Amino acid sequence: MHVKDAVFLEDLCPKFRFRQWRKSIHKFTESSCIYCGKPSESIDHILPRSRGGFSNTENCVPACLSCNGDKSDDEVFYWYRKQKFYDPRRAMAIRAWIEGDLRLALRLIQWAKPNQQNINIKVSKEDTIDNYTAA
Ligand SMILES: [Zn+2]
Repeated sequence: MHVKDAVFLEDLCPKFRFRQWRKSIHKFTESSCIYCGKPSESIDHILPRSRGGFSNTENCVPACLSCNGDKSDDEVFYWYRKQKFYDPRRAMAIRAWIEGDLRLALRLIQWAKPNQQNINIKVSKEDTIDNYTAA
């Protein structure tokens, strides 16, 4: 499904501009998937195009192929909450990204970087969610 998206995007924009734009999206997160932190190999539409999502920066995030394919047409937060790698800081980052606050999104992603601290492993899922939704 995400492969179709990519083709559609290329059709919409001149190839060069599209490539530049796509590169800049990956650059924001240092080419890591916004959902799980693995290398981002694709661009995911937060609101799928099938549901009227636009191909603009606010709606397009760097994602690994696995997340992109698995999420498919699901609502982003509904899908993300069910994932083993769910991280509330990343959920907040995605929300900030959608709202166009990329600075905040990046700060939250930085905070969630697994090589700095891996809260998901040390703390149970319930604890993490409570802690961060309350804050
Ligand atoms: Zn991923």
